Amino acid sequence: FAEQDLEPFRKNFYRQSEELDSMSENEAQELRMALGNIKIKGSGCPLPVARWSQLGLTTEVMDFIMRDLKYELPTPIQAQAIPAIMSGRDVIGISKTGSGKTISYLLPLLRQIKAQRPLSADETGPLGLILAPTRELAQQIYEEVLLFTKGDDSINAVCCTGGSELKHQINSLKRGAEVVVATPGRFIDLLTLNTGRLLTTKRITFVVLDEADRLFDLGFEPQITQIMGTVRRDKQCVLFSATFPNKLKNFAMRVLDTPISITINSQNLVNENVTQRFQIFAHDEAKYQALVRILDERIKNEDTFDSSTDLDEQSDNKAIIFVSSQQICDFLARKLENDGHIIHSIHAGKPYQQRISNLQKFKSTRNSILLCTEVLSRGLNVPEVSLVIIYNAAKTFAQYVHTIGRTARGTHSGDAITLLLNDEISSAFILRKALRDQELLLHDSSSVEELQRMSEKFEMGIKSGKYKVSQGFGGKGLDSLNSKRKSQQ
Ligand code: ADP
Ligand code: MG
Repeated sequence: FAEQDLEPFRKNFYRQSEELDSMSENEAQELRMALGNIKIKGSGCPLPVARWSQLGLTTEVMDFIMRDLKYELPTPIQAQAIPAIMSGRDVIGISKTGSGKTISYLLPLLRQIKAQRPLSADETGPLGLILAPTRELAQQIYEEVLLFTKGDDSINAVCCTGGSELKHQINSLKRGAEVVVATPGRFIDLLTLNTGRLLTTKRITFVVLDEADRLFDLGFEPQITQIMGTVRRDKQCVLFSATFPNKLKNFAMRVLDTPISITINSQNLVNENVTQRFQIFAHDEAKYQALVRILDERIKNEDTFDSSTDLDEQSDNKAIIFVSSQQICDFLARKLENDGHIIHSIHAGKPYQQRISNLQKFKSTRNSILLCTEVLSRGLNVPEVSLVIIYNAAKTFAQYVHTIGRTARGTHSGDAITLLLNDEISSAFILRKALRDQELLLHDSSSVEELQRMSEKFEMGIKSGKYKVSQGFGGKGLDSLNSKRKSQQ
């Protein structure tokens, strides 16, 4: 079609919720980690949302999702992909099967095509095209489209797949179809039938390639390329897939226009050379005793190890104990020294020279122990650290990841043990997300159950609005928003 014949259309429908305005880059990163280690590529990606109400959906759609479907919260892919797509961008969404990808593209698609001039009596659709690899998948998506358009006369959806119902499909298409869900082969067949009087790509402004990895595996690339070649160039196009192999990547880069790519649960939240553990305590003294036990164990292991090793090749296994404040650091240093442990301690309140010399001693002494505040540990690089003890459980994902990153540098392996109190439920939530299945198996089942209970308690709090996924986002962000509002009144 000649470009000048094409009607302009609106792509950007997204206005960031006021609640998110005060979120910093760090807080956004924290929220992305908490939601499921969301990784973004490409510039200009909007912030993820924490709740449906932050997506700017109509009240009908919101009510339908929350009351009828009873979806309490957006899934991670929905939380990040919906804002990105609603802002008009081409998006690649990678997230495992069953993670809610359909709604991620369906809500923005419906929003976009409803804003357009309706099909006139002599026009054939569609405005929105969803391509899927198999009949069954197309049918499933189609049913979901029906759920979201039922009672809405402005949108007629048709499912076009190979099989026997061609006559039925043709009759439905004759009534005009705003949305077509199709397998690529059947869509091309219908395009060529009746020389475009049944279907045309002329008014298509939104294309979805769902289950793109399978579309590709089943050899649909030529058909998709053919279809895309006839759709207007400034269309919006999104691609969703459970996996994203390289050949699909190349294809996506050809078909999409400066896409934002969103990957959920990319596996590298925590360095896989680190083995994560935890212990839960009812009070501080029990926690302190556990710390002492861990340090004593180290010495014991060291003794047996040494007797069988050449003195020159003795290994160096250093440990770092992290605490959350200078006061705790000083208090714990005294207590451990009184109990006969040699430790080196640093925190920002100590004179610079003393910090340098303590750090130097820690580095030059074999099997030494460093006690420090988390803040001071950023960027600390001591390759011989094989054990990290987190004495005050991390309150944010970023903090946790940075802290355990102090061990297992390069190719070394290391352990990270978190000692947490049984009321530190936000930390339990972080650990529950960060620990891998095989690490949970290292713990006795009652500990895992307790962690799970604590984590669920925190999650319930998130759902009810009592707690926020990221402290910064909930606490500081919302507080500053409220104070801004107050000062405006
Ligand atoms: P995918 O395409 O990623 O495999 P689907 O979109 O088919 O996943 O969704 C999987 C299931 O999850 C469906 O039954 C869907 O109704 C349900 N679902 C989607 N979004 C949510 C949500 N936010 N909360 C709860 N359930 C959801
Ligand atoms: Mg799907």
